[in-house]
This record gives sequence, structure tokens and C-alpha cells, in this order.
Amino acid sequence: MTTIISNSDEYYNTTLETDIIYIKGVGPARGKILKKNNISSVGDLIYHFPRKYLDRTTIKTIRNLRIGDEAVILGQIDAFGVKPAKKRRFFQLTISDSTGKLNCVWFRGISWISDKFQIGDAIAIFGKVEFYNGLKIIHPEFDLIDEEDPINTQRIIPLYPSNQELKSVGLDSRGIRRIIINAFEAINNKIDDFYNPKFLKAEGLHSHYDALEAVHQPNDKNHLNMGLYRLKFDELFFLQLLMGLKKIYIKSKKGKKIIDRGPYVKSIYDNLSFELTNSQIKVLKEIRLDLKSDKPMNRLIQGDVGSGKTIVAVLASSIVIGNNFQVAMMAPTEILAEQHYISFQEYFEKNGINCELLIGALADKEKNDLKNNLKNGVVQIIVGTHALIQKDVKFKNLGMIIIDEQHRFGVEHRKLLIEKGYNPEILAMTATPIPRTLAFAVHGDMDISIIDELPKNRIPIITKIAEPKQLDEVYAFMNKEMKTGRQCFVVYPLIEESEKLDLQAAEVGYNKLKKIFKDFEVGYIHGRMKKEERDMQMQKMLNNEIQCLVSTTVIEVGVNIPNSTIMLIENAERFGLTQLHQLRGRIGRGSKQSYCVLVKRKSTDDASLRLNIMEKTNDGFIISDEDLKLRGPGEFFGTKQHGHLKSKLVNYMADSKVIKHARDSAFNLVRLDPELNDKQNKGIKLQFLRNYKSMLEFVNIN
Ligand code: ADP
Ligand code: MG
Repeated sequence: MTTIISNSDEYYNTTLETDIIYIKGVGPARGKILKKNNISSVGDLIYHFPRKYLDRTTIKTIRNLRIGDEAVILGQIDAFGVKPAKKRRFFQLTISDSTGKLNCVWFRGISWISDKFQIGDAIAIFGKVEFYNGLKIIHPEFDLIDEEDPINTQRIIPLYPSNQELKSVGLDSRGIRRIIINAFEAINNKIDDFYNPKFLKAEGLHSHYDALEAVHQPNDKNHLNMGLYRLKFDELFFLQLLMGLKKIYIKSKKGKKIIDRGPYVKSIYDNLSFELTNSQIKVLKEIRLDLKSDKPMNRLIQGDVGSGKTIVAVLASSIVIGNNFQVAMMAPTEILAEQHYISFQEYFEKNGINCELLIGALADKEKNDLKNNLKNGVVQIIVGTHALIQKDVKFKNLGMIIIDEQHRFGVEHRKLLIEKGYNPEILAMTATPIPRTLAFAVHGDMDISIIDELPKNRIPIITKIAEPKQLDEVYAFMNKEMKTGRQCFVVYPLIEESEKLDLQAAEVGYNKLKKIFKDFEVGYIHGRMKKEERDMQMQKMLNNEIQCLVSTTVIEVGVNIPNSTIMLIENAERFGLTQLHQLRGRIGRGSKQSYCVLVKRKSTDDASLRLNIMEKTNDGFIISDEDLKLRGPGEFFGTKQHGHLKSKLVNYMADSKVIKHARDSAFNLVRLDPELNDKQNKGIKLQFLRNYKSMLEFVNIN
């Protein structure tokens, strides 16, 4: 009789779901810390990808280092310690290779770094070579190396992201590399694939296991790239599957056919004080076709600030209203909603269309009346904020929703508004144009229209960076402009972390400017003000009773005062590119030359880069492109709504090939198997639901 010895590892099947503590080298203490850092299972560990790779072929010898080199140096630790200095103590590490010695210096994190090294340890150092009392690398990255380390055999060494907490239990890059190697051993070649073999072959993809192994233990660059490609494909494929499913789902719904123009649109159109641009006409034609079709419209208009999206929305709405449907427009902030309301009224009031504004700041009685009038259909078009999606807001016959600055809303918000009608037409707008590859990821379920020209009467804004010492000159110029009848904005930053200080700065600025522009009326608004007070100031600005309006960033969106020709932005280095562009978009709306002055009070490389771009171009497409490059999509959009863009591997600027591949392949699958019912696609379906079930909105796939 044979007995089974139960403590043998062979009976324990490690999978991606296995708890991390069962991996050799982990144990309870490390397990706890790993879990705190969202690495709970073997899968989490294996999806903890290297932050970069050390390519042995790029190693330099110390003797051959030159100032400015981005170098990798392999050496041995000779000495280390904290050095006193006149200004500031620092930590110095001396390493050597067969050609010489090199000092590395840390000014920050000295207490943390102090106990990391031992004389004689093998170490890899990387960083930029600088001249600072001799050649040095300041705050280098480093990786301690084992005798048996792959660095001695392999050409490409993965370096893993870590943090203080992980490092405190020995899980620095090297520690993590070790347990990942152990995890691969435990898994022993078995990682399921979501794709069936036919699919893998057709798409030219390597297996899941091979890809993961290549990313963690690459043999060479090609091997690594193969692995990266497959894993990027995975991230993108499932996202595009979501987009594809949503898109065909929307197209499968029965919408209304709005064929007649109705009584309003012609009269509004005939009374415009300007001619529409070709872009505006093209977009209106696209919308017209969507309305006529029996499928609900699902269209996004991308157009720079000032490109005239509002009138497009007005004309589209007037057709829908003319067919006895209601329209709701949702904007992300009260000020923006108010401004839209004002622009809308300009067209609707004259035509007897009942347009109302719903924002949180309304009194209860007003709100209730308004809600009643929405329910009974007296209100034909409503503009509002999130207040529109409250449960007790009901429509008689909601035919179209317009979502302004669409990327600032979550899926959930859109959904709640859509559900207030029966398959309403959806028109979304954004003043933040983005590259096509990223648009696939963010708005991949929508049809996209682009307004890519500004109205003809626009004169390009002149933008200049100013140093604080030039401010007197700037103020003199503003005085001169105001004397000729123009108006100015002065904007102060208001960043949440330092709100109090910022408000103070704005207030001090306001008091100063009141004295400097004593011949003129200077106004002041900020977000903490009561709405009535703010409105009063805005109204005065509109009537030219105020010539210079000082504000915090509440002015960012919406304000439309064509007589204003100067925008002075204080501490411009603290704003993001897109925000600066939006602010600048408040001027240059009339027929006079406008000027934007960016006051730079602190100079960092990043800030200078941003401000220089602003000086160089007025083109919103170029600016958002640059902004994306600088910040990455997560920060660009604000991560809340776009968690799915926090891709571990994909670079939306550089990976257009795999993005397109994944999109084509996902959309193709959706065409062939729209409910993912084919047995062959079972793995895909499971993986998809695991990741995106919560984002499916209405699509029913179980
Ligand atoms: P945005 O796209 O930023 O929302 P708006 O719709 O607010 O831009 O338009 C900016 C200004 O340009 C408004 O005052 C609007 O009346 C005006 N405008 C819109 N279209 C044209 C056009 N084709 N010709 C001249 N002015 C226009
Ligand atoms: Mg607008």
C-alpha cells in the first residue's frame, strides 16, 4: 500500500488565484505588507510589472563616463556614509569598477538610505552624470545584485517598483525579483489563457504564460517586446470589447426618427449675426442624419474653446424641441451651466421656447416649480448641473441629452440622465481634443465629430510670459487698453491644497489692483462667494460697469465677454496646460486684438516647458497633445472617471499600433459574437466580466 505524504508541494496546485503567502520567500510578515500594497495573490505579483529594464549592453565603465550621460554602471561598494557640509549634510556612496571610482550623492532621504549598503556588495547604479566637485550621480537609482543574479548571465534585468514599506521587509527591486522567480517556479508553466488557440494564431499573439515570462525574465529585446505587446494587447482588447459592445448595443436600440425640422430652427438660423463655419455646418449635417435615423444618436463633438459648439447645440436642440421632445443639457459646474443657460436664452427666448436652469443653488420653491414644469412638459429645455440626475427630476418626454465637458462625468452620471428618457439622442461635447488613439479608449463607443476651425473673425491671441519685475509695464499696458474701452481679467490660482493662502493672494492682488487701476472699476469674484454676489459682479462685467475683473479660477469656464482683451494669469506656472488654454479662451472672442500675459513666479523645467508652449501656439489640439505627453492620461482626465486608463503598460501616445490592433480585433469579435455566447470565447467572456462588468451600463451579458 502506498501512502501519500501530504506535505509535499506537488499536491498543491499553484494558480494565479493562490494566496501570496504560499510563495517561497514570502511568509506571513511580507505577506501582510504585500497585501497592504494590493499584492494579495500570485496573479497580483505576476502582474507587478518592472518599472524599467537594465540593459547590460548599455553598461558603461567609470573611466568612460561623460557629463550628461544617462549611464548604467556596474560596480562594487567601496565606502559610504553621511558627510557634514556647510549648507546641508549629504550621504555619499563610493563605488568602483575595474576602471575607476565614482561618488554618488543623496541630499534627501538620508536616514532611509543609510542602512542599505555593505562594503563589497555588488551594485548597479543608474542616473545622469553631473559635474559637482568632480563627476557624480545625484540621487541615482540603484539595484543591489546577487552573485547568482541574472545580471551575470542575462542581458536584460527587470527593475521593479517598490516603496519604503516594501523595502522595510526586504522587498526592494531585488527582493521582489526573487519572489517573482519563485512564483514562476511554483506555477510551473501553467497559466490559463483567455484566448483560444485559433484566436492567438489569427492575431499573431504569444501565449499568456510566455508573455508574462518574457516580461519578467526576458532573454533579449525581441523576447521582451513580444511579451509587452501581448500584455498591452490584453489591456486594450478588453477595454475595446467594452466600447464595441456598448456601441452595438446603442445601435441596436430603437430611437425615434426626427425627420421634420420643426418650426424653430429656421428662424434661429436666419437670425444669426454670423455665418456658420464649414466645420459647424459639417457637424450639423452629421447630427441631422443621426436624428433622422431610427437609432439613437451617440455623438461627441470635439472642438477647441471658442470654436462655436454652443450654437451647434442650440440648433440641434431646436430641431428636437420642434418635434415636441424635451432637451436636457448637463454641465460639470454651476458657472458653466449658468453661462450656457444665458447663451441659450439669447436664442430660445425670442422664439418662445421655454428654457430653464436647474442648479443646486436654487431655492426649494423654485426647484419644485421647475420640477413640476419638467414633468408636465411646460419646460422644453433645461440646463443644469448634476442636480439634473436627482431622482425626483422627471421629464414628460426627454428626447435628447447634451453633456458638456463629457470627460468630466462618470459613466454612472451619464447613465442616470439617459435613463430619464426613452432611448434619448445623446450629444456630448468637449473642448479638450485628444489624439485619436486615446479617443478610442475614452470615447470609443461614440461617433466623433470634430470642429477644427475657429470662426473667421478671430484674431489670434498674443501670449507673453512675464517676470514679476515686468509687472509695472504690464499694468501700464492694461491701463492703456482700458482707456480705449477694453476690459481685462486677472486670474489667481486656486489649488485645493493651499486654498487659504491662495484666496489671500487673490485678495491682496485685488486690493493692490484697485489702487493701480484707480481710474477704473475693479471687481472681484471667488468660488466661496454667494452665487448672487458672483452673478452681480459678472453682470457688471458684461455691462462694462467693471473694467477689470480679478478672480480665482472660478472664471475658468463659460464666461463670454467679447469686449475683454487682456487675460493676466498670476503664478501661471501652477496651472496645467489645458487649464491655461481654457482660461485664455475667455478672451479673443471679439474683433479686437487680445493679449494673454502669463506671470511666471517660479521657474521649473516643467513650468517653462508649459508656458513656452502657450506662447507658441493657440491651437487646442496641439496643446492637449502636449499636455497628455507631460501628464499621462490618468492625470490628464482626473483619475476618478477614468480608472481604466491607469494602464500599467500602455502608453497612449506611443502605442498606436497595438491600440489599433486591439480595437479592430475586439470590434471584429463583437460583430461575430455580440453576446459572447460562443463556447470558444468563454475565456474572453470570463476575463471581460471580471474587469468590466461594472462598466457595462445597459449591455446585458451574463
Ligand atoms: P465653445 O466652442 O467654446 O463653446 P462658443 O460656442 O461659446 O464656443 O462660441 C464662442 C463665441 O463665438 C460665441 O460668442 C459665439 O456666439 C461665437 N460664434 C460661434 N460661431 C461663430 C461663427 N461661425 N462666426 C462667428 N462667431 C461665432
Ligand atoms: Mg462652450
